[in-house]
Amino acid sequence: MDRVIIAGGGWSGCAAAVQAKKEGADVTLLERTDMLLGTGLVGGIMRNNGRFTAAEEMIAMGGGELFQVIEENLKHKHISFPGHEHGDLYDIGKISGAVFRFLKEMGIHIYTKSRVLHAQMKDRRMINVTDAEGNCYSGDGFVDATGTAGPMNNCSKYGNGCAMCILRCPSFGGRVSLTSLAGVQEKMGRRPGGAVGSMSGSCKLYKESLSLEIQERLGRDGVAVVPVPPELVEDHLEKKSCQQYALPEFRENLVLLDTGHGKLMTPYFPLEKLQKIPGFENARYEDPYAGGKGNSMRYFAMAPRDNTLNVEGVDNLYCAGEKSGLLVGHTEAIVTGVLAGHNCVRRIQGKQQIILPDTLAIGDIISYVKQEMDTPEGMERKYTFSGSFYFQRMKEKGLYTTDTALIQKRVEEAGFSRYFSHSGKKDCVS
Ligand SMILES: Cc1cc2nc3c(=O)[nH]c(=O)nc-3n(C[C@H](O)[C@H](O)[C@H](O)COP(=O)(O)OP(=O)(O)OC[C@H]3O[C@@H](n4cnc5c(N)ncnc54)[C@H](O)[C@@H]3O)c2cc1C
Repeated sequence: MDRVIIAGGGWSGCAAAVQAKKEGADVTLLERTDMLLGTGLVGGIMRNNGRFTAAEEMIAMGGGELFQVIEENLKHKHISFPGHEHGDLYDIGKISGAVFRFLKEMGIHIYTKSRVLHAQMKDRRMINVTDAEGNCYSGDGFVDATGTAGPMNNCSKYGNGCAMCILRCPSFGGRVSLTSLAGVQEKMGRRPGGAVGSMSGSCKLYKESLSLEIQERLGRDGVAVVPVPPELVEDHLEKKSCQQYALPEFRENLVLLDTGHGKLMTPYFPLEKLQKIPGFENARYEDPYAGGKGNSMRYFAMAPRDNTLNVEGVDNLYCAGEKSGLLVGHTEAIVTGVLAGHNCVRRIQGKQQIILPDTLAIGDIISYVKQEMDTPEGMERKYTFSGSFYFQRMKEKGLYTTDTALIQKRVEEAGFSRYFSHSGKKDCVS
């Protein structure tokens, strides 16, 4: 049986695992910490703006399983907040367990507390990887889904210090990428002005530490927008990874979303100032613990890759999620994960790799980000279906729509209807 080894159990690694398993491979997923979903453990926003289109494209292509799991674990559906329409919020308390059970039931081997530290290469191929405990996993194909966040030394050097976030590097050891273990030089993202990396764009507050009135609004509407008194305004917009939220409304207000905690849409906010705002007198950070001072730093290490998501220079190594470029988001991680899992199995089986066409938003973002990352200005941007540069492009190209019948028609016209479903074998698309 074809053996696929995936390093990194964030959304992209989980999606690659599901797709490779659907195609009949023996799949092993290695995750450094004790929980699946990585940064997705503290996220939750789905389907806002163009992410709706991308999710529906992937569902129409037959790769929608994880979107279905998310759908079953939502806290709020179809909410609007500044600059964002028709968003869904998943329940961060339930989602990791739900995904774990789904993958397990599919027969995927999941090893948590398995931090890959070594890779053995033969010519241009990866042969096996070994984790910190000395367990060795041999594979025919590999997927690098290790993300771009941290580790601590990057957060200290380029951010405001280790913010004690969900990635818990001091306990589980920092991120290590398969691409770099294979000897491939990775790319570093920059902020406007040239500084390296960028800071994660939201914090989580204990909902119970907020006033009853804010808690009620969050429970009822999923969102609460609280004006910041002018003397307490903080300006972090330039530092944010999530440029889709770098709008003046996010500086002048505290935008809170209910994902189980109060998701505060700002990279950090000094606690002593926060507690001066009515309703936040008892506010406490849940993630990162040092949310009053800083947040995790990301986009340090992206793999050079082609549009099949094959890592340049290593024949049987694929990449997904943030590892595959300056892509922000769970939706972006899932759709690239599906493609990486698929092409990894095809490569093992000696079949032609596929590239998704640019008549679909998913195909377009994959090729556009690669092209942009070859330019200095492009390396200073982040790309997401949900806002900023790429959402603008989606609208200009006519790719953004919430008309699911139209999305299905486009997918059909592109020749990809149910393509990833693998209910039958298809070898014709290139
Ligand atoms: C605070 C915060 C809030 C966010 N909120 C949202 C949101 O609401 N909506 C949204 O769409 N996006 C959000 N994002 C962005 C989104 O979470 C990410 O872009 C996306 O989920 C990245 O997925 P990934 O799989 O590429 O990487 P990651 O989520 O970073 O996962 C990588 C995984 O690899 C593991 N790993 C690393 N090295 C190794 C190794 N050597 N061996 C084994 N495992 C390893 C890590 O432990 C981690 O679990 C948020 C991000 C942050 C940080």
